[in-house]
Amino acid sequence: RASLNLQVRGLSPSATVAINERSNDLLAAGREVFKLGLGQSPFPVPDSVVEALRAHATRKEYMPVRGLPALREAVAAYHQRGVAGEREYSGDHVLVAPGSKELMFITQLAFYGDLVLPSPAWVSYSPQARIIGRQVVWLPTRADNGWKLTPADVDGLCRRDAGRPRVLILNYPSNPTGQTYDADELAALAEVLRAHEVLVVSDEIYGELHHDGAHTSIARFYPEGTIISSGLSKWCGAGGWRLGTFLFPRELQWLQQAMIAVASETYTSTSAPIQCAAVTAFGFGPDIAAYVAHEQAILKALGGWCHRRLLAGGVACAAPQGGFYLFPDFSGQADALRRRGIAGGEALCERLLEETGVAILPGSDFGRPFGDWTARLAYVDFDGAAALAGHDPAATID
Ligand code: PLP
Repeated sequence: RASLNLQVRGLSPSATVAINERSNDLLAAGREVFKLGLGQSPFPVPDSVVEALRAHATRKEYMPVRGLPALREAVAAYHQRGVAGEREYSGDHVLVAPGSKELMFITQLAFYGDLVLPSPAWVSYSPQARIIGRQVVWLPTRADNGWKLTPADVDGLCRRDAGRPRVLILNYPSNPTGQTYDADELAALAEVLRAHEVLVVSDEIYGELHHDGAHTSIARFYPEGTIISSGLSKWCGAGGWRLGTFLFPRELQWLQQAMIAVASETYTSTSAPIQCAAVTAFGFGPDIAAYVAHEQAILKALGGWCHRRLLAGGVACAAPQGGFYLFPDFSGQADALRRRGIAGGEALCERLLEETGVAILPGSDFGRPFGDWTARLAYVDFDGAAALAGHDPAATID
């Protein structure tokens, strides 16, 4: 008799997907719900990208496993502009998949070694490791350091157990913390990662959505050891279209080749019409650049507004730097909350949803210890189309 594989026993649906379903159930039951749980972009897909999709709606053939050549060229050129350095990337360095989540998963299938994750980190990295039976090494970060990994953290880990092969997933701007790394911080991390030969999967899916200055990739400082992850889901507003991309340096072609083999035996290729539309998105013409600049301005205004409201309520929280998340820490309210029978972040999130309709997620879904008072808030429950048309979402929420 067939039974469950050990690795998936006790596995439940991803926390962000689960909160979305729960919020939808409550909405269907007539309750008012503020969906600050799922990191779903509120912005409509840019018009030119929708038009490209329409123009290719009848494309129905299987695509090359690694991705449509025109798309791979566009993705390479897109990153080339961002990475800035002597590196030359071409379409050969790109792999396309139905979502960067899928690419993360097949990376985990393909490499040999430990997975190193800063804590907190995005919800799915660690369950993916668990499904595959891979060891996760958590590197806790601290609120007073903006939840950022330091070179000393990485160096300490690598020296403790020298010689172990390791892959670090570094995500910035970060889901869940909303923090990002500047060029100096990335350069310092790169030095240590190179010294210990730690391979980096640089999850830059929110790279366009920084609030200030410009986004820098760690690949600029450590090109030979860095894979850059991106996709349409966040900056292009098209999570449900399912398209993610990885950019590999030539030194990591061995990993890319293995992943292509896995892809060929699993998802085969990514939707043909979506890939054709993605050529326009990654082509990053003036209309896309203007669209992204609008997104940045709106998210900056809204994130800043939510942050100020939290501080005004006495809740500790780092100022948002990118993406669309805040990571408040309610430990200052812990005594008062305990008196109301709320023992930690998990209970707090449940009670918030039940009593106020506000859906947020506890920090423990992101690798923080169970019972800790952090939570993730996604400030995306507004009409993105209206915001792009000039209506201030912060004013609407007020
Ligand atoms: N990485 C991070 C940090 C994310 O927040 C998400 C989506 O929420 C993903 C990856 C997955 O994105 P995709 O839609 O490309 O699978």
